[in-house]
Amino acid sequence: MAQMKIAALSAIPLQIPFSIGPVLAKSGGQPWKAQEIVLIKVETEHGLVGWGEAFSYSCQRAVVAVIEDMVAPLVINREIGEIPDFMRKLQQALHLFGRYGITMFAISGLDIALWDIAAKAAGKSLAKLVNENASQTPLVGYSSLYRYGDPELVAAKCQASLDQGYKVIKLHEIRESEVKAARDQISDAIALTVDANCPWTPVQAHGMALHFKPYDLLWLEEPIFPPEDFDALATLQKDVGIPLAAGENLCTQYQFRQMISSDAVTYVQPSVTKVGGVTEFLRVAELTQVNELRLMPHSPYFGPGWLATLQLMSAMPDPGFVERLFVDHEASLYGDLIDPVNGNFHVPDEPGLGADPDLDVIKTYRV
Ligand SMILES: [Mg+2]
Repeated sequence: MAQMKIAALSAIPLQIPFSIGPVLAKSGGQPWKAQEIVLIKVETEHGLVGWGEAFSYSCQRAVVAVIEDMVAPLVINREIGEIPDFMRKLQQALHLFGRYGITMFAISGLDIALWDIAAKAAGKSLAKLVNENASQTPLVGYSSLYRYGDPELVAAKCQASLDQGYKVIKLHEIRESEVKAARDQISDAIALTVDANCPWTPVQAHGMALHFKPYDLLWLEEPIFPPEDFDALATLQKDVGIPLAAGENLCTQYQFRQMISSDAVTYVQPSVTKVGGVTEFLRVAELTQVNELRLMPHSPYFGPGWLATLQLMSAMPDPGFVERLFVDHEASLYGDLIDPVNGNFHVPDEPGLGADPDLDVIKTYRV
């Protein structure tokens, strides 16, 4: 990128109420009633503005503190130059605070904002900046359901997803009764996946995977705790013959390299607001392609992380499906860009991420 200095950096926490119901949802042990978004706003000395998003579910104040107290002093008044070099230096400066977690969430948010600026400066969408041949045609989305733990509710939410045109559905269930209810509700033509969120030991996971096998899952996601036990995942995938997916809890390209070389998964799931932003996402995408695996990013986001995911996926030669959390929001930062059309998502082709967030929505829902 042409010489450009960061003049200002701010973290803006939002909470946009949503309905996930009819149950009372929880996240991180706390009631989950609102979409938490930490917007990262970067302004350059020449007046360009970029927007990013840092993962912040159940940790919003901590992420804002990292940006304000630890990241801002290291980057304000600095030349951006090449973004990967700039981000490498920042990762190095902050590495003692943990390579994965709150620090990397904040780093991811800044990285996305810098790529938004780079694409705006080039007058291109991020997809086109990354790949001149990006098609920007609509992407196939999947409905990502909350964990209801109730077969009837799961069946109803599956039907509601079909009614919106989705052809791929993901459950966050950990019992066979809910998985069966979902498969009974939808036709065999609908792809079904299950995300367990790391509940089981390797032995327990083996048993559950066998229970789930008759329901023809496209993938089983994060069956084992801890998520970095790649050998256990590899054994499970091989022994049960069920395709596994993982990656949302991994740190940068380096841990993805370990997971992939262990033959632990079939579907690779970087999360742009957690993995280190666009920079690390692109490296994970490359690793995925070289190893002939399939990219299925983690993206239950509604801020710049959502748009960044759309842009990056549409830059891929053979994009996988885009994860859309199945909730209804009181307001949207991006109008109808978060809404499916027959289960697909439009990829905006304006410069940068394709759209800037709605300033009125920011004003109303700022914490
Ligand atoms: Mg997941």
